[in-house]
Amino acid sequence: MPSYKYSVYSSAKRSGSRNGGGQRNGGGGRSGGKRRGEYIDPARLVRVAKPVEETKYESVNTFQDFVIEPTILNNLLAKGYTIPSAIQDQTIPIALEGADIIGIANTGTGKTAAFAVPVLHRLMNEPKSKVLIIAPTRELAQQIEEECRSIAKGSGLTGALLIGGTGMVSQLRDLRFNPRIIIGTPGRIKDHMERGTLKVGDVNMVVLDEVDRMLDMGFVNDVTDLLKQLAPERQSFFFSATMDGRVEGLIRTFANDPKTVAVKSGETSDNVHQDVVRFSGTGDKMAKLHDILLDPAVNKVIVFDETQRSVERLGMELQARGFEADTIHGGKSQGQRLRALDRFKQNKTTILVATDVAARGIDVADVTHVVNYTMPQSYQDYVHRIGRVGRAGKIGHALTFVGN
Ligand code: AMP
Repeated sequence: MPSYKYSVYSSAKRSGSRNGGGQRNGGGGRSGGKRRGEYIDPARLVRVAKPVEETKYESVNTFQDFVIEPTILNNLLAKGYTIPSAIQDQTIPIALEGADIIGIANTGTGKTAAFAVPVLHRLMNEPKSKVLIIAPTRELAQQIEEECRSIAKGSGLTGALLIGGTGMVSQLRDLRFNPRIIIGTPGRIKDHMERGTLKVGDVNMVVLDEVDRMLDMGFVNDVTDLLKQLAPERQSFFFSATMDGRVEGLIRTFANDPKTVAVKSGETSDNVHQDVVRFSGTGDKMAKLHDILLDPAVNKVIVFDETQRSVERLGMELQARGFEADTIHGGKSQGQRLRALDRFKQNKTTILVATDVAARGIDVADVTHVVNYTMPQSYQDYVHRIGRVGRAGKIGHALTFVGN
């Protein structure tokens, strides 16, 4: 069945020094045994990468062509944005005319500036306008905040970042200044609304980023309740990497004659060599992972495990074996998550052990391998996971542990 095999993983020749004791990691049972999620046929996890030729997008506009505030234009140029990306080229002109937008685009396409530019331009021209930007994860909310801050530099616009895992004090202080840009995750936004510290009745622009993930993460009711409370006359932006019945249903309820902009980004999995790693028993599983991590070709790797506890345990096991590994999961404080991410971005650590949720929205350019130490809950989760590699036309590798 497998047409493609990593010979190095089929034997345990490169054993290295296993001083941590293979039995300590208890992650062996689940991926081979009974699982709560969808059954995924291992045959679907084996595939030879077909390098996808990146077709260069010919932008119709330059940033100078857009009728936008000079402050915004200068900030974009100072950031080195000389040519609009496809999603920016197509979204900005129609959004500046006030249309509702459905953007089909994933992280890495420049979608943040595609909504930030028209939104910030409108805020600078309409002193009463306000925007609410909702993202599924803290990391993504933070990235959006940084992007907005740099594009709005010198505009005098004020903002608040409302995410969990960070102290309430600074958020409450920011909210007292009646910010015009409110960015956050659904849970914390709802929390502030329930406390009465955030009023959204006068919010006349809303951005929902990564709608599909937001729905995957169970935020549908929170988001629906939130949207109902915004100003009835409003401009809406919905961004999603995928479009399915649920996403369409939400958009249909809340958008007003939306215009769709779809950015063709080739199936990322086409760029990813996919293979399975067969194991029998916990000790063998850990030994195989150890071998993989010793392979010099495995430069920078995200290892997925199932729960916060199993991620923590696996991280400790790898550290005990002498690997520079870090962990990222929802049980860590925001500061710890950001530090782990920064160290990984700067190559201070090259192994990041993560849960699915924590890894969402992480955009680290040069990851070479994804290892699914436990099987994902669904094939869709699998595709999300392996989308962390094979970016920008590079070949990536995905290895999934499958119990014998
Ligand atoms: P995003 O998809 O919004 O997360 O953006 C992905 C990356 O592309 C970020 O690092 C942005 O800073 C960068 N970027 C966005 N738009 C442009 C542009 N027009 N020119 C160059 N880089 C850009």
